[in-house]
Amino acid sequence: METADFIVIGAGIAGASAAYELSRDARVIVLERESQPGYHTTGRSAALYTEVYGNRVIRAITSGSRAFFENPPPGFAEHPLLAPRGTLLIGREDQEGSLALALEEGRRTVDAVSLIGADELLTRVPFLKPGYAKAAVWEPEARDMDVHAIHHGFLKGLRARGGRVITDAEVLGLAANGDWIVETRAGSFRAPVVINAAGAWADVVARLAGARTVGLVPKRRTAFTFDVPKGTPVEKVPAVIDVDETWYIKPESGRLLGSPADETPSEPCDAQPEELDLAIAVDRIEQALSFGVGRFHSKWAGLRSFVADKTMVAGFAKKTPGFFWLAGQGGYGIQTCPGMARIAADLARGRPFPADMADRGIDAVDLSPERLGLEV
Ligand SMILES: Cc1cc2nc3c(=O)[nH]c(=O)nc-3n(C[C@H](O)[C@H](O)[C@H](O)COP(=O)(O)OP(=O)(O)OC[C@H]3O[C@@H](n4cnc5c(N)ncnc54)[C@H](O)[C@@H]3O)c2cc1C
Repeated sequence: METADFIVIGAGIAGASAAYELSRDARVIVLERESQPGYHTTGRSAALYTEVYGNRVIRAITSGSRAFFENPPPGFAEHPLLAPRGTLLIGREDQEGSLALALEEGRRTVDAVSLIGADELLTRVPFLKPGYAKAAVWEPEARDMDVHAIHHGFLKGLRARGGRVITDAEVLGLAANGDWIVETRAGSFRAPVVINAAGAWADVVARLAGARTVGLVPKRRTAFTFDVPKGTPVEKVPAVIDVDETWYIKPESGRLLGSPADETPSEPCDAQPEELDLAIAVDRIEQALSFGVGRFHSKWAGLRSFVADKTMVAGFAKKTPGFFWLAGQGGYGIQTCPGMARIAADLARGRPFPADMADRGIDAVDLSPERLGLEV
């Protein structure tokens, strides 16, 4: 039986990044059910880094992750991980209240956030329908992320430090016998600490371990890319997000990526797009654009998993020794991964909460499983 200091279940961005941090001074094995890491939610994101998104804790961890993305360790990736993009949270006349709130919230995290009027909006996104939007909250420092490079940088770095990533290794059972004995389709593994980074399946894995669950709800989100009329200057425009998050568009390789920003509760599964959600997206996006949504180039769906307060869960289950939660990454798992990985690795090793994150006004309780009041 292979042994390690930490067994990480799930090789999505959460598991890969935490394993990378842990492997600095520990033996780490990552167990992944699929034959490819990143098959589920990690491979299905919109790849946007925005510091005004999510609640106070999410925004702090996102901002605290920026330095890693901008200056990753030597050899982590061959190209920059971030590229200029910017976001516009746009609102119609009847959404003025939401715009004011978004501006206030955004400015708490990012100084450069400002409100721009309809004329400036049209110069930034010339193909918006004139008269559709009243104003927008402009976040110039938002970025596109190279998710593949980030994910593979963590996996490559982990392997370089002697860590192992075992694919086709679905975890079927966990038994606490001094150490954890983890039974998988690829054999048995042993470690004193198990990190549950199983994405939408994190509550399923907790049940396998006899641990209390955290009330995780996977929510399906649909996305697609579509053709735009020839000559439309899509590449340089910012991401455009309805201020109430009911749709968004974003440039993607000469086309636009669109989404109805749906959040339909789902069982953990290999999520697929539903025709109705695609039709809703087309309708909402066409109301805002000066041209119709063209031929779909690709379409997909993924599960964004949340607990009740929409903050991630990172910490030991008090009632199940050696069982560490790293779940509930919701719609922010990529943009927060460097910060979350450091937090998770420090807490899992019994070290203090990272000082730079504490300086941003958050602490271990904000992320702890017990904050949820579920006797975890
Ligand atoms: C449409 C869409 C747009 C998004 N846009 C953004 C964005 O712009 N920016 C951003 O930061 N985030 C975005 N997200 C969210 C982001 O993708 C997720 O937060 C992140 O990928 C979650 O990573 P994860 O590692 O927790 O989950 P996953 O990537 O799903 O990884 C979990 C892994 O655990 C494995 N697993 C499960 N059970 C077992 C088992 N029993 N044994 C072994 N392995 C198991 C699974 O196979 C899976 O590979 C978006 C998501 C979607 C769907």
